[in-house]
Amino acid sequence: MDLAVRQRATISGALRKVLDRGELRLVFQPRLSLSPPRITGVEALLRWSSPEHGDIPPAEFIPIAEESGLILEIGEWVLREACLVLQRWRQHGMDELNVSVNVSVLQLLRGDFVGVVGRVLDDVGIPPHLLELELTESVLMANAEQTAERLQAFRALGVSLAIDDFGTGYSSLAYLKRLPITTIKIDKAFVDGLPHDAEDAAITPTIVAMAHSLGLRVVAEGVETEAQMRFLAERGCDEIQGFWLSPPLDALQCLAFMRNWRPDGLLLARDAPLAV
Ligand code: C2E
Ligand code: MG
Ligand code: MG
Ligand code: MG
Repeated sequence: MDLAVRQRATISGALRKVLDRGELRLVFQPRLSLSPPRITGVEALLRWSSPEHGDIPPAEFIPIAEESGLILEIGEWVLREACLVLQRWRQHGMDELNVSVNVSVLQLLRGDFVGVVGRVLDDVGIPPHLLELELTESVLMANAEQTAERLQAFRALGVSLAIDDFGTGYSSLAYLKRLPITTIKIDKAFVDGLPHDAEDAAITPTIVAMAHSLGLRVVAEGVETEAQMRFLAERGCDEIQGFWLSPPLDALQCLAFMRNWRPDGLLLARDAPLAV
């Protein structure tokens, strides 16, 4: 306990300097739309390489950045950097590519967050419909009234909204219906067991059907095998993301990956009969 507290204090201290020192960077993981197969966007993911502490995963430092309020500054840096990279790629012909950015509860609840996002899009010159903000269920549930209003303002701006890690929180169908979201991302936990685990094989198509009945797009996270991809494609899942397609890559590598990617051999059951 003592050690954990001290470690958090040290990391929190180091975190304070990361922006000045340029220790943060983004990596990008492509997202594949399944029918027809096409890369439609990327998720920006934060990386911190500390000279003192080495590479620290976001699951460890983001909660600390949230506690100290630093996430506001870091989050704005992430948003701007992701938009700048997208703008560079757009100049290489990726004009309809989307970028998704993870957003923390503190950012969402801060007074001028909608203004901040609008300004960044404007400064960088990104059409709002190309930006998607990813929010976790717990974030949305924590302050239902306030968040619903906030989300409405983002939709008015033209930005897309996704629920991240769907299935791990407590969203009910009735609750989802009230929120102006556009996409749900099925958590990796429900993809892991596909196609053989009976529970996962029952749950994922149910989530897809439910989401579609609400007019939402469905992305499956953490797809690691072709068998998982095919199972999801055959059940109407709209998009997949995961190591099977590509791990997160730095901006240059990701651009190269997207330019070289071909749908060869990816004719899916819904588009054409599979050769048996
Ligand atoms: P997330 O938004 O659900 O992101 C997906 C995580 O799964 C990423 O971990 C990604 O690298 C990993 N992943 C993707 N495909 C696979 C796969 O096929 N197999 C496995 N095993 N993992 C896969 P990462 O980058 O460590 O990020 C963890 C979490 O940290 C994210 O989960 C997100 O909640 C948070 N995060 C990352 N960047 C940011 C950020 O800029 N701001 C905020 N607020 N949170 C962030
Ligand atoms: Mg995410
Ligand atoms: Mg997720
Ligand atoms: Mg996650």
